[in-house]
Amino acid sequence: MTDTTISAAFYTGDKTFTVEKIAAPGPGAGEVQIDVAFCGVCGTDLHIYLGHMDARVGDHRVIGHEMSGTVSQLGDGVTNFKVGQPVVVRPLDHCGDCPACNRGHQHICQNLKFLGIDTNGAFQEKWSVPAHTVHALPEGLSLSHAALVEPLAVACHDNKRARVAAGEDVLVIGGGPIGMLVAMVANAAGANVSISEINKNRLVFAEKQGYTTYNPAEMDVAAAYTEATGGKGADVVFEVSGSQPGVDLMTQVASTRGRICMVAIHATKPTIDLFQFFWREIEMLGARVYEPEDYDQALQLLADGKIDVSAMITDIKALEDIESAFVELTSNPNAMKTLISLAGE
Ligand SMILES: [Zn+2]
Ligand SMILES: [Zn+2]
Repeated sequence: MTDTTISAAFYTGDKTFTVEKIAAPGPGAGEVQIDVAFCGVCGTDLHIYLGHMDARVGDHRVIGHEMSGTVSQLGDGVTNFKVGQPVVVRPLDHCGDCPACNRGHQHICQNLKFLGIDTNGAFQEKWSVPAHTVHALPEGLSLSHAALVEPLAVACHDNKRARVAAGEDVLVIGGGPIGMLVAMVANAAGANVSISEINKNRLVFAEKQGYTTYNPAEMDVAAAYTEATGGKGADVVFEVSGSQPGVDLMTQVASTRGRICMVAIHATKPTIDLFQFFWREIEMLGARVYEPEDYDQALQLLADGKIDVSAMITDIKALEDIESAFVELTSNPNAMKTLISLAGE
């Protein structure tokens, strides 16, 4: 190991970050050390910043997990990567020995460690992670766009769970960053995608991306959407709003034998109209994080130009300005995705 000094932004509780000089971490045996290029700010990072997850992260933690970078060092036993190779990290470390892992569901391991929440993350210049979490970038994919692979892989997993097919009518409830990416993946699969959203700026953004939008503040979305689909409703509904009105809408607009995919994290228990599940034989699917193949799909969609995330990146800030980035994200309704640049680009 070298004694290189790097800058790292620590979340230190109560909406504060302190940028500190520390010895570069790792790589330990079986790990890859990465020069972080970009790290996006996730909704989860905002929850941490607001103090909602202090019991889990403590008050001295480097957070951040939506990253891209280049390999800087290989730990003992790592042979499948090269120094200088551009990569992204799938920030999930599983135990390998629980009922979920034994059934092949390592991504929802019952002892799952989320890198950048349960361990130090990527808002630092160098990050060391287990080699099994690293994915090489395909040719022609920029490091700034690659920083969106993690949330895009969430969207790929959601679409896979919901079995979205070409020609299907899909309604995404909630047009924030994840909702937009879910819509983009469904659109790339050939579905007819609409978005329900109340935030005017997000509606404008969705329309600019070519989606039909519905604003529940101005209309009865269930009635309007059902009429627009000839009385059928949505073959697939994604609930990404995390709100009771979103949950009410999801059962109102689902078609017979429709699939509802629960993407949002609901902090409280919403009331769900189970009668509609019975009456229309609706299916509800949970979808959490991603599997390795979802990362492969996200990387390929970006590399092939089937999804363009450039409009999603609404700001890029230096590590020193990380606190102001979080302040703006919690106050500016126009913001989609802010990237922190760690390579001085
Ligand atoms: Zn994320
Ligand atoms: Zn496990």
